[in-house]
Amino acid sequence: DQHLLIVGAGHAGSELAVSARQNGWAGRITLLGDEPALPYHRPPLSKAWLAGQVDEDGLLLRPRSAYETARVELVSGARMEAIDRANRRIALADGTSMAYDKLALCTGGRPRPLSCAGLVPGARPRNLHYLRTMADAEGIRAQLTPGARVLIIGGGYVGLEVAASARGLGAEVTLLELQDRVLARVAGPEVSAFYERVHRAAGVDLRTGTQVASVEVDGDAIRAVVCRDGTRLPVDLVVAGLGMLVNVEAARVAGIAEEGGIPVDELSRTRDPHIVAAGDCTLQFNSLYGRELRIESVPNALEQARAAGSWLGGKPKPHRAVPWFWSDQYGLKLQMAGLSQGYERCVLRGDPDTRSFSAFYVDGERLLAMDAVNRPADFMLAKRALAQVCTVDVERLADEAVPLKELLH
Ligand code: FAD
Repeated sequence: DQHLLIVGAGHAGSELAVSARQNGWAGRITLLGDEPALPYHRPPLSKAWLAGQVDEDGLLLRPRSAYETARVELVSGARMEAIDRANRRIALADGTSMAYDKLALCTGGRPRPLSCAGLVPGARPRNLHYLRTMADAEGIRAQLTPGARVLIIGGGYVGLEVAASARGLGAEVTLLELQDRVLARVAGPEVSAFYERVHRAAGVDLRTGTQVASVEVDGDAIRAVVCRDGTRLPVDLVVAGLGMLVNVEAARVAGIAEEGGIPVDELSRTRDPHIVAAGDCTLQFNSLYGRELRIESVPNALEQARAAGSWLGGKPKPHRAVPWFWSDQYGLKLQMAGLSQGYERCVLRGDPDTRSFSAFYVDGERLLAMDAVNRPADFMLAKRALAQVCTVDVERLADEAVPLKELLH
């Protein structure tokens, strides 16, 4: 009886388990993770869940019965420490070990810690939060009372979504971003400027080009954050959204990962024929963009997991999808397809003031990426077009009298 052992019970791990079974994996399947609960949706932790709009059951990726039906054994609260590739075993933190025939690494990432003067490494003030897990989100929500002074460090998606949810709960929100604009890593300046306006209009004190110099800790809590320019901001809680670090230490020691992730092919295979990997912890060569990418998104985790499941089950279906992502803030749905890095021009279709527009990132005639705000139809068209190298009629793109369909080739 062949044993498929999946480590990491998040989006990728859960999908991989079910997908391997559906594709014909006949042996045992174990889904092992270090979190206490059944696998759940992470995106709502900064959005609807934090805002109090969904309960815990609404967060589950699948009910317990779905794992029973697929004959997947769940092991929660267990942590893998090391991989012994020669003997095909993993060592667990409790001192035991488990054998595998095939191993799937779906270990995702953890938040990048805040480091600044006033913080003692290893000792975390009780009001300093990160956001990756349900437990993290519960810690934030417990302190997010109306009128609480929340300081958010980092103007990426997680920081902005927490800001929007916290405003919805009546908290006083200040957001600090080191770069001169929010979403600098992922969106063009027009989209950043739009989100800055929206947050400020909602009452967020948003400060770009601002670096944290130190924190003042009193007892076990941060009382104030001091910026490089000397500004002192008294706080009730701090949420740091500084991106993530990949959980690949064991895979690195085992010789199948680099600092940036676990390289995988289009079937999610690593360089060890007995090990696959999927999700945020992987690096995959993307033939559309001609480079190796690490993509942090639910769709990517699911698609890589399905590719791994298809290969394990003997019905290989390679994964070659366009990277895409979404973000919800203040009733605005942002959807992004493709990767804009290296774009030459950004063309807007629609007026941001109407809270419905699209931004197209082009290099010459080639469409590299697009961001859609409350424009799901534009997004679907562009995402489909971006599945191949796609050109666009750049001069007419801004003209809404011409249907978008006619402009994408
Ligand atoms: P994870 O979901 O991180 O799962 C990995 C699991 O492995 C975790 O449970 C971890 O505890 C466990 N683990 C790690 N190491 C070990 C070990 N050694 N032993 C045992 N278990 C281990 N993406 C979107 O597409 N849209 C969004 O709107 C969006 N919003 C987000 C909002 C927030 C607040 C966060 C944190 C992320 C968001 N993301 C969003 C990103 C998305 O959640 C990730 O891309 C996705 O969770 C990746 O899935 P994964 O299975 O690779 O990793």
